[in-house]
Amino acid sequence: MESMYKYIFGPVLSRRFGLSLGIDLSPDKKSCNFDCLYCELEKAKPVNKIENQPNPDEIIKELRDYLSKNQYPDVITVTANGEPTLYSKLDELIEKINQIKGNSKSLILSNASTINEISVRQALKKFDIVKLSLDAADQKTFEKIDKPLKGIKIEDIIDGMISFRKEYSGTLVLEVLIVKHINDKKEVIEKIVEAVKKINPDRIDISTIDRPPAYRVFPVDNQTLYEIASMFEGLNVNVATRKSGGKIKKVHLDKEDILNTFKKRAYTVYDIETLFDEDTKENINQLLLQGKLKTTKVANLEFIKTS
Ligand code: SF4
Repeated sequence: MESMYKYIFGPVLSRRFGLSLGIDLSPDKKSCNFDCLYCELEKAKPVNKIENQPNPDEIIKELRDYLSKNQYPDVITVTANGEPTLYSKLDELIEKINQIKGNSKSLILSNASTINEISVRQALKKFDIVKLSLDAADQKTFEKIDKPLKGIKIEDIIDGMISFRKEYSGTLVLEVLIVKHINDKKEVIEKIVEAVKKINPDRIDISTIDRPPAYRVFPVDNQTLYEIASMFEGLNVNVATRKSGGKIKKVHLDKEDILNTFKKRAYTVYDIETLFDEDTKENINQLLLQGKLKTTKVANLEFIKTS
């Protein structure tokens, strides 16, 4: 069945953000200033603008119509067949979304390439949740994995993220996508960790390739994802495993080990289920009942950490 909407798609149920209704700002063709190796869209020369931009009112009309007929989603996700911050009317659009979103939260998925521009940060600040990508913290790896438009510097992106965090009171999520043999080396990850600590996001998602990529590159296995995640101490780390990503060695911890481990970083309910053996899960439940561990929600995802 052909969709009755041009800009709205979904909803899809995502483990990371809940029930998500998408808004695509560039439905005609890919418009991105990166050409990531892992992109789920076809490879394309990077560009710095969206051609035939939609008018915010056309999008809002569709959104109003959808919301009048359906359940409000957990998140209304602004994205693009490419990079949504290249849309020049983002500020006007988010103000209008916020007026009609009800209890849904507004979310944007951006590659962060423009975060060093004050006008972009002004618009991003109006979203309830902002998810930015950070696949490398050194220029060489950044260029290899994300193939940005010439002149884009990862140092400026990181500086922009640090400024944004200070100005932004909503929920900031960073995503690090790991590609085998490209950004999975210890030295590369260490630099990312260092940058992430300076940025101080509310949550960090560690993921890998999940759908057929634009270039011939490969995912890392689930075990590697968890090993990389363990380097991000002190943060709310969510590991986006793949179903076909291989077995995980179950970990056993006694209560004291659990408290020490959870002091260093919070785990999602899903990661606990995947990572720990039955005894350990039972211990975690008891510690929750005793109030020594507690749950918190970050951008619709539940974490368990020490009280
Ligand atoms: S930033 Fe997103 S849309 Fe752009 S090339 Fe990378 S994965 Fe594709």
